[in-house]
Amino acid sequence: MSDHIQRFSFAQLPIRGEIISLTETIDTICDQHQYPKEVRHLLAESLAACCLLADIIKIEGRVALQLQSSSVVKLLLVECDNQGRMRGLLHLNEEHAHLVTSGPFDFKQWTANGQMAITIDPDKGQRYQGVVPLDKITLAACLEDYFNMSEQLPTHIKIFADHHKAFGIFIQTLPQAANSSIGNEESQQAFEHVTALTETIKPEEAFELSHQELLYRLFHQDEVSIYPEKDLGFECSCSRERNMAALMTITPAELVNLVEEQNEIEMVCDFCSNKEIFNRQQIMELLTSEADQGVIN
Ligand SMILES: [Zn+2]
Repeated sequence: MSDHIQRFSFAQLPIRGEIISLTETIDTICDQHQYPKEVRHLLAESLAACCLLADIIKIEGRVALQLQSSSVVKLLLVECDNQGRMRGLLHLNEEHAHLVTSGPFDFKQWTANGQMAITIDPDKGQRYQGVVPLDKITLAACLEDYFNMSEQLPTHIKIFADHHKAFGIFIQTLPQAANSSIGNEESQQAFEHVTALTETIKPEEAFELSHQELLYRLFHQDEVSIYPEKDLGFECSCSRERNMAALMTITPAELVNLVEEQNEIEMVCDFCSNKEIFNRQQIMELLTSEADQGVIN
């Protein structure tokens, strides 16, 4: 079964949902680095969460989750765009890296004193960034709380993950129902009902049943409809052109110094480990074309 996400809704309940399964993408991303099992677990969970958010936010563009802490996780960065293209990386703090293998995966311990941000980066328009407090014991619970507090939308997120697979389900009251005072009690009851059923999902059901089978098992009395699946996969957005653009943010003098010292500049993508090399001549050409454009503009 390929990696995919699906939306679902109910004929009579003001609730929207999404359901996701990932395996190949997790393996592809994690195999590019030598991550311990426990790190793969956290990445798997984060990729599923990011993709659920990207799909619910429904923008043309990209959604990123970035977490930094002074504990085990120095930097966790996962991204998903509206076409289901994902990438991710995780850097450990060397001085705490021993904690990774010394006990079970513990989100709270690994991210102690950390900060998490959601960035919504539309292809057109303003970038938005929200801060997610890390005061819950799982990533899903932190994100759930963020939606409940900042968006005022009753939200439930459940994620099961291990070192090479993840399953997630996202339940949210429809914004129009959450904002109407008349339907409030009814929508609250509907949300509690759907959440309670979601809580009965066992990991083996999540990983073994198809989305359709699982949703039918949970919600057949609630007239659930499931939408077509959207495929998901790894794809890195790095390119030689982007690397050139990054080089151009360095001053010409510094760039010349760098290439004088090292004879060439090597740029390695943190996400996919793709390597681009710029030799002395290429750097000089880059500087000349930039200077020419400066004259024309
Ligand atoms: Zn890359």
